[in-house]
Amino acid sequence: MALLDARQLVIKKIEILRNRVNKLNKKPSLIIIRIGNDFASGKYVANKIKRCEEVGIESKIIHLEEDVKQEIVEETILKLNEDKDVTGILLQLPIPKHLDEDYLTNIIENDKDVDGFTIGNMGKLCLGLDGNVACTPRGIITLLKEFKIDIEGQDVLIINRSNIVGKPLSQLFLNENATVTIAHSKTKNLKEKIKLSDIVVTAVGKSNFLRSEDFSPSTTIIDVSINFNEEGKMCGDVCKSDYEGLINKNCNLTPVPNGVGQMTVIELIEQTIEIEEKRERI
Ligand code: NAP
Repeated sequence: MALLDARQLVIKKIEILRNRVNKLNKKPSLIIIRIGNDFASGKYVANKIKRCEEVGIESKIIHLEEDVKQEIVEETILKLNEDKDVTGILLQLPIPKHLDEDYLTNIIENDKDVDGFTIGNMGKLCLGLDGNVACTPRGIITLLKEFKIDIEGQDVLIINRSNIVGKPLSQLFLNENATVTIAHSKTKNLKEKIKLSDIVVTAVGKSNFLRSEDFSPSTTIIDVSINFNEEGKMCGDVCKSDYEGLINKNCNLTPVPNGVGQMTVIELIEQTIEIEEKRERI
């Protein structure tokens, strides 16, 4: 039982992914559409580009102005859909409020939707069909498997019902034969549910939301949130000063940073490679 630090796993995966890219006839190409100058988005995009370079994926950022018109974004996506050289398209969220996020996300061609956010890909996931899957949920399952944590038959509580985390993750856990409960801001008796769970995934987005005493011994805790505390330091929902107490209680815990966030980017890279591999098989 320990901290589920993803850094070593990421180093191992980069090597494996580089070898997979080398076996392809054509290097995969990932296009990231970034709109505006949100600081956090800029950092996430830079990290994705860095990982692409490490494995040999060709990547490009299309950076559009904050006040860009909806038609221009739409035109950009449609052109990329048509471009045979493009493997994957990613619209970096959030986008400015005047743009229709649902519409723009959904015009990305299903096969090129590396984020797995389109209705087509979400539908396939719900039906248990092969499609692209949201990267953070994918990364959580990979991390649990790599650390050899049992999923089948386990009681899993996911505290989040968003389209990018809770909903797709619940389907992945179901596919792995877990028993899944989804909690949200209107859930009653949350603390009782946490105590009864073998695996707790928290993505509430509030620092110090959960403490050591909230969990039963031997719980596996997946902290997805990226928050910033009063000192401006990155943290998750679980109070950092309680990490040691949790390890002493025989719990597993993903740290923030160096936990789920690292896995999200690796899964994005892997999914881009998978898309290109499928294209070459056709
Ligand atoms: P979101 O849409 O705001 O979801 C937050 C969820 O928490 C909602 O389902 C909300 O319930 C629930 N919630 C809020 N207060 C609660 C309470 N008191 N008790 C129980 N549930 C409560 O946010 P998101 O986009 O899913 O992201 C969540 C967090 O994950 C953020 O910190 C984000 O930065 C992080 N994130 C990290 C990664 C990564 O790669 N590590 C990827 C994606 C997101 P309602 O639905 O009722 O409002």
